Amino acid sequence: MEKISMWEATANERRKRPSLEGDQQCDVVIIGGGYSGLSTSYFLQQKGSKTIVLEKDLVGSGASGRNGGEVLTGYMGSASSLIKKKGVEAARKMYQLSLDSIDLIETIIESNNIDCAFTRNGSLLAAYRPSDIEGMKKEQEVLERNFNHKVKVIEPHDMQTELKTTFYHGGRIDEKSAHFHPLNYALGLAEAAEKFGSTIYENSEALKVERDANNKVVVTTKNGRVIADEIVIVTNGYSGDLNKKIKRTIVPVESIMIATETLSKELVEDLIKNNRAVSDTKNLLYYFRRTSDNRMAFGGSGRSANKKDQLQLFEKLRDGMVSVFPELKDAKIEYQWGGKVAITKERLPYIGQLDDGTYFAYGYAGHGAAMSTLMGQLLARRIHGEMSEDENPLEIKRVRPIPFHSQHEKAVSLMKYYYRYKDKK
Ligand SMILES: Cc1cc2nc3c(=O)[nH]c(=O)nc-3n(C[C@H](O)[C@H](O)[C@H](O)COP(=O)(O)OP(=O)(O)OC[C@H]3O[C@@H](n4cnc5c(N)ncnc54)[C@H](O)[C@@H]3O)c2cc1C
Repeated sequence: MEKISMWEATANERRKRPSLEGDQQCDVVIIGGGYSGLSTSYFLQQKGSKTIVLEKDLVGSGASGRNGGEVLTGYMGSASSLIKKKGVEAARKMYQLSLDSIDLIETIIESNNIDCAFTRNGSLLAAYRPSDIEGMKKEQEVLERNFNHKVKVIEPHDMQTELKTTFYHGGRIDEKSAHFHPLNYALGLAEAAEKFGSTIYENSEALKVERDANNKVVVTTKNGRVIADEIVIVTNGYSGDLNKKIKRTIVPVESIMIATETLSKELVEDLIKNNRAVSDTKNLLYYFRRTSDNRMAFGGSGRSANKKDQLQLFEKLRDGMVSVFPELKDAKIEYQWGGKVAITKERLPYIGQLDDGTYFAYGYAGHGAAMSTLMGQLLARRIHGEMSEDENPLEIKRVRPIPFHSQHEKAVSLMKYYYRYKDKK
């Protein structure tokens, strides 16, 4: 079994980048080399700002190089719950942003020739319980009436046109969604930002942020400092103590994935007929897709920092994959890996500026493969004064710490036990 992720093992060649040594100056220093940080840099550079990205490990080492590569419309939860939380006007704008985010990614990929197997064949949300199909029909109606967005509901008896399984009871198709090789997109985005003049330092963890006498931001790493006018922190599920305010508004949740050996093209085409990005309606959901080299990449919920527990979770995930696709019972699992997804209290992304001037964007709750690139663009516009805070429905005016944040690991564990129980058929 390979220790690295399948995406890392099958990635395009990585550009070697230095770590920060000595003092450097720039207009905007960006902490975090995932999609959010790289996109912020890409768009700021095009506006004439000089940026430096500091990445603790390598570009895409966080969630951006480890995810399922499902580039999905919408947000965590239903459109109805979004309307309830935000009101219909704001919800409509937010939904449109989620659609725009995928168009934006497509444009970036095309205009920079990023080789990341971007495939816009739509997504399928598969119904785990027979009753889920009624909810899907209601959601279809809400999406069309409020957001003018059309999706298709697949009746249980037609499900074989999508998936070769009896595990699900119908589903909902959204033709706007896509999938890609997540790490290759991150690597391509980094190179595109560099083409516009961005400097990216790897193995350069930001350890401390201060303001000097001229009110410049000074970020210290092990062997250097960056002095800048503005700072953007986009460390998402990997946020440590660098900015405690941000950290306390995020619950990092582990998600894990397995990937089979390369299978026959005929088999994978038969299992997921239309090459869609699939996820389901279980509380502890499964998400899965074909890869461009004909593997099955299958994801689910992780939980514990305990190694033995984690191994069991990977075995359970494999059992889950075989329950969905019995034909994969003898398929060898070649890769298993995990990463951290960031969830906010509202389960919606946050973007904005703290009182001390720090800009931030995070908390995409499993929808960041799509949203984070757009958030980088919005941050760049915000920093350049092209967008007021009121224009963006995702803007958070005051971040509030999650109560009992230090207890979140226990709370997530308990919640997952409960969900696992509820998912038992
Ligand atoms: C297993 C898994 C599956 C997922 N599947 C999907 C999916 O199919 N679809 C979807 O939409 N979303 C999915 N997600 C979520 C998605 O990957 C994220 O929302 C998205 O990548 C967020 O990008 P980001 O740039 O904000 O954060 P990240 O990519 O996590 O980047 C944050 C970066 O900050 C760096 N960092 C942290 N602290 C410091 C510091 N002090 N100094 C310097 N650097 C620092 C980290 O090393 C990291 O590289 C999944 C996530 C995981 C883990």
